[in-house]
Amino acid sequence: DKTYDIIIIGGGPIGIACALEAEKKDLSYLIIEKGCLVNSLYHYPTNMTFFSTSEKLELDGIPFISNNPKPRKAEALEYYRRIATSNEININLFEKVTAVKSENEDLHEVVTDKSTYQAKNVIVATGFYDIPNYLNIPGEELPKVAHYYNDPHYYATQKTVVVGASNSAVDAALEIFRKGGDVTMIVRKPEIGERVKYWVRPDIDNRIKEGSIKAIFNARLTEIKEKEVIVETSEGKQALENDFVLLLTGYRPNFEFLKKMGIKLSEDGKKIPQYDENTMETNVPGIYLAGVICGGVETHKWFIENSRVHAEVIAKDIASKR
Ligand code: FAD
Repeated sequence: DKTYDIIIIGGGPIGIACALEAEKKDLSYLIIEKGCLVNSLYHYPTNMTFFSTSEKLELDGIPFISNNPKPRKAEALEYYRRIATSNEININLFEKVTAVKSENEDLHEVVTDKSTYQAKNVIVATGFYDIPNYLNIPGEELPKVAHYYNDPHYYATQKTVVVGASNSAVDAALEIFRKGGDVTMIVRKPEIGERVKYWVRPDIDNRIKEGSIKAIFNARLTEIKEKEVIVETSEGKQALENDFVLLLTGYRPNFEFLKKMGIKLSEDGKKIPQYDENTMETNVPGIYLAGVICGGVETHKWFIENSRVHAEVIAKDIASKR
C-alpha cells in the first residue's frame, strides 16, 4: 500500500493551495474532499459577490481575471476549477474523512467512508462551512427553516424571517426584498452587525429606515411553528405570521473531528486549535492545519488572502524533515 507524504483533508481553496505547494516540493499527496470541488464555495448563495478583490483570492500567483473588482461566485468556481484541472491536482471527491489515527509522528491512518489511507503527514483544511450555529429552539427542524440561503426567487411574495445581522443575513434580506419577498429581520443586538461590508451598509440601513425591510432589534426568535414564529423582546413575546425562516447566524468548524484526532482546543471559549504559528503543525506531530479552520469559533479571522500562505509554510516544514 502506498504511503503518501501528505494527505490533505478538504478540497477548498486552501487545500488546493497545499496541493500546489506539495507538487513544487516533489511531495506525494492526495486531497480527500467530501463534496464537489471547492464544496463550500459551491454552496454559497447563487448571486454572492466576494468581499475580496480577485487578486486576493489568487493561489500561487496564478492570475484571477475578473471583469468586476470583486468577483462573483461563478467566477471563483471557474478560477479554482481551472487551477485544479490544468494542474491535474490529485483529488478524490465525494469521499468523507471520518477519522485520523496517528500511529506515530511519521505514520497516520486516514479513514474515510470508502477506504483507508496511509500518510506521513496530514493537513486539515476543512474550513468552517459544514456546521451551522444552531439556535436549538422548538421548530428549528421544520421544512420551512434553512441554515443556508441560496436564491431569492424561492421567497417571492412569502413572509420570510431572517435571523442574524451579519453579511450573510443582510445579503439575503436585501435580495429577497428586491425579488418581492416580505422580509423581517430578527436581530439580537441593537443594530446591524459592525462587520457588514461598508458598501452594503447604507443600503440595509436605509431599507430598514424606510420600512421596506422590517427589523426587530434586541430580539430573539424563541419558537418556530407551521404558520408563525414567536419573537421575544424586552416588551415581551409576539407572534408573527410566517412562511419561511432563514437562520443565518454563522457557522463553526467541526471541533469534534479535531478533538478526535487529538488536536487540543483553547479553553477561553474561542476553541482555537493548538498549532505552532511558524510551521502550522498542531500538538499532534505530523498533523497540520491550513486555512480558515485555524480561527476556532472566530470564523472571521481567517480568509483566503491571509491563510493561503499556510500552504507554503507547511510544505516547507514537511520538506525540511525529509
Ligand atoms: P473551505 O473553502 O471551507 O474548504 C474546506 C473543504 O473541506 C470543504 O470543501 C469541505 O467540503 C471539506 N471538508 C470538510 N470536512 C471534510 C471531511 N471530513 N472530509 C473531507 N472533506 C471535508 N473569504 C475570502 O477570502 N474572501 C471572501 O470574499 C469570502 N467570502 C465569503 C462568503 C461567505 C458566504 C462565506 C461563508 C465565507 C467567505 N469567505 C471569504 C471565507 C471563506 O469561506 C474562506 O476564505 C475559504 O472558503 C476558505 O478556504 P478553506 O479552503 O480554508 O475552507
